[in-house]
Amino acid sequence: MKFSWKILLCTMLIMAAACGASGYFFVNYVFQTSMERETRQALDESSILRFAFETAALNIPSKYDVLPDGTVEQIGVYLENSGQHGNRLLRISDENGKVLYASEGFTGDTSLWEERGENTRVYRVVQSGDSYYIQTQTRINVSDRMLTLETMKNVTAVYTERTEGFRMYRQVTVIVLLCSGAVMTLIACWLTRPIRLLTRATGKMAEGEYSYRAEQISNDEMGQLTADFNHMAEALEQNIQNLENEVRAREDFIAAFSHELKTPLTAMIGYADMLRSRKLDDEKHFLCANYIYTEGKRLETMALRLLDIIVTRRKEIDRKTTNVSGIFSYLQEIYDETKNPEDGRVKVDICWEKGELYAEENLLKTVLINLTDNAIKASEEGQTVEITGRRMENGYYFQVRDAGIGIPEEEIHKITEAFYMVDKSRSRAHNGAGLGLALCTAILELHHSHLKIESTLGVGSCMSFLIPDEGVNADE
Ligand code: ADP
Repeated sequence: MKFSWKILLCTMLIMAAACGASGYFFVNYVFQTSMERETRQALDESSILRFAFETAALNIPSKYDVLPDGTVEQIGVYLENSGQHGNRLLRISDENGKVLYASEGFTGDTSLWEERGENTRVYRVVQSGDSYYIQTQTRINVSDRMLTLETMKNVTAVYTERTEGFRMYRQVTVIVLLCSGAVMTLIACWLTRPIRLLTRATGKMAEGEYSYRAEQISNDEMGQLTADFNHMAEALEQNIQNLENEVRAREDFIAAFSHELKTPLTAMIGYADMLRSRKLDDEKHFLCANYIYTEGKRLETMALRLLDIIVTRRKEIDRKTTNVSGIFSYLQEIYDETKNPEDGRVKVDICWEKGELYAEENLLKTVLINLTDNAIKASEEGQTVEITGRRMENGYYFQVRDAGIGIPEEEIHKITEAFYMVDKSRSRAHNGAGLGLALCTAILELHHSHLKIESTLGVGSCMSFLIPDEGVNADE
């Protein structure tokens, strides 16, 4: 059953019960009040009649000591004719219960005296056919006689009024229920509107429309619920978006990986086939073997880099407070022209300030070597690559700058993606696979840092990052 119908049904039940109960009590209250008034009147009349009887009995000249039955009947007729006709009946009986006078239609019995003692005014309500009466009884002690005076007052009108009252209340209850039902239907619809809007929103979201939001139409608890729902939907949409991006990135990664694997493998298979199926002269033989060797080396580098990325992303690194001198001495060592004269086509200038940083030294060396190698590869013979290290207020700052070919502006944000190469043939010629910067980004993320890339095509590039001082003092 719909929630609005439940509200309507409950309200109608409560209203029906309230109308019924209040009607019952009100009509009964009016009835009780009327009956009390009628009873009082009946008892007063009974007293008046007794007094009138006694007065009449005293005024009659008596020849006897005892009041005769005939005189009693005469007084009864006199009393009957003196009162209101039809509404009140009269009966007078003697000491033995013999009826001396009775109005026409008097039906009540004399059992009242058995319930109450003598000299007491008593009454009760009796029903005769469709009519109701208040029967009263009183003793008259006159001229040595103990007579009983009974009256019956017709109160059928009070009972009819009660029946009418109930009938009218039933009609009023039905009208009130119909009107309030119509009003409550509107109120229930209005109250449950936020629920309907929320239901629609959940339905839309279940169908995949994650950007759909429920309309907030109030500031009460329902409005708060709608706001919370929308907030949750926003977080959900963001999570789904992130998941979709991740899935897409993985698909791109797999596609690029397959491509990077397929191209050299196809060539290597071709050259290997040539070597085994034909007799080649020495020079061609060397070229084929050399191609297989260099491409094999490239694949090996690629496999190792990939492994590095995967391992780096998964592992919790062991950061320590480290002196930068170790890192720069190492760089000076490997980029020393005199020790590696074949790498000396590009000069590497290293300039650094003393200091400490909080990092995993070997991983940081990997980053700097990758950036420096990229800078060397991008530079022409005779150009200089500058490696700078500077102590800053909040961390240690590294920068690798070259005056090489530069990167087109629209590709700067892509070069940290795995397998992305700006100039594929140039990168491959340098044994590149587009994984170096992806590895650097992963390592820097572990150090809560990120790579800043500035480059101008034909002018040069500058790669920099800051290792924040998160634990330098803590460790000391
Ligand atoms: P690779 O292994 O090919 O060097 P990287 O991820 O290190 O892969 O670099 C991605 C691409 O970014 C490179 O192929 C290169 O085209 C470009 N790149 C990186 N560093 C520089 C730089 N200093 N100057 C110009 N291009 C660069």
